[in-house]
Amino acid sequence: MTTSASRPLAVVTGASDGIGYELAKVFAENGFDLVVCAEDPGIAEAAQAFGASGARVESVQADLATFEGNERLFHRIRSLGRRVDALALNAGVGVGGPFIETDLRADLDLIGLNVGSTVHLAKRLLPEMVRRGGGRLLITSSIASTMPAPFEATYGASKAFVQSFAQALREELRNSGVTVTALMPGPTETSFFHRAGLDDTKVGAGRKDDAAEVARQGFEAMMAGKDHVVAGSVKNNLEAMGAKVLPETAKAKLHRGLTEPGSADE
Ligand code: NAP
Repeated sequence: MTTSASRPLAVVTGASDGIGYELAKVFAENGFDLVVCAEDPGIAEAAQAFGASGARVESVQADLATFEGNERLFHRIRSLGRRVDALALNAGVGVGGPFIETDLRADLDLIGLNVGSTVHLAKRLLPEMVRRGGGRLLITSSIASTMPAPFEATYGASKAFVQSFAQALREELRNSGVTVTALMPGPTETSFFHRAGLDDTKVGAGRKDDAAEVARQGFEAMMAGKDHVVAGSVKNNLEAMGAKVLPETAKAKLHRGLTEPGSADE
């Protein structure tokens, strides 16, 4: 990748699959060059696909659940000598099952990725955007951020964190020229549920939104400088509205019906 490109540059984490893959595709189709990151080698193949629309693409393989992985990505971005026009902090995982049975390491890695990487990369990359007075940050949150999430308790808490974080940064940066947008998908057709061990749950087995459509809505909301977008179906929007008035105890009970192991068969 050269340093004199006139195309804007977007960084997308978790771009090898799912919503992040589709986000990177939309960025490329809309004239952005890309830095894309994921943990596994599949990111190199995804990078080739994004290049098909003429984008220059740099792929970085890094474990963003770790401090070192985030630093590696940051240094690769900096080594390009280009400004970051859009930053899509999207990489995330779930861990399903009763909290007392899930693996501690998996829960801590989830927090490291969903929370730690979001904070780390925002901390590293926002200051330059603010200095030059422009840039767009998109954080993939979730409808799950609006409710306690039994049987994916650390996941729900991690999304509540990033939702609050996005809204707080947005206000801090209100007059800076930098916009912050939270993308709030509902259940979306990706590898997420299988990876999280949620296949046997009502939400895992149920109807889901299309990842490309969710990504398009996220991209458009970010470009429009909106504070958030509830992506996907009308049902997601109703759920988000309901979440504003229901008490936490009621929301936790409702969520249990969707994520309790074995609920797929009920
Ligand atoms: P996905 O298809 O499983 O994609 C997850 C992406 O994150 C992959 O590119 C994966 O790459 C990457 N990733 C996972 N662990 C990583 C690590 N340690 N370091 C770097 N990259 C890592 O899931 P998705 O549904 O698209 O999820 C994307 C975001 O959307 C997440 O933040 C998720 O919480 C959010 N979300 C999803 C849904 C849904 O229903 N699917 C709903 C609301 C919000 P590797 O394969 O290389 O690990």
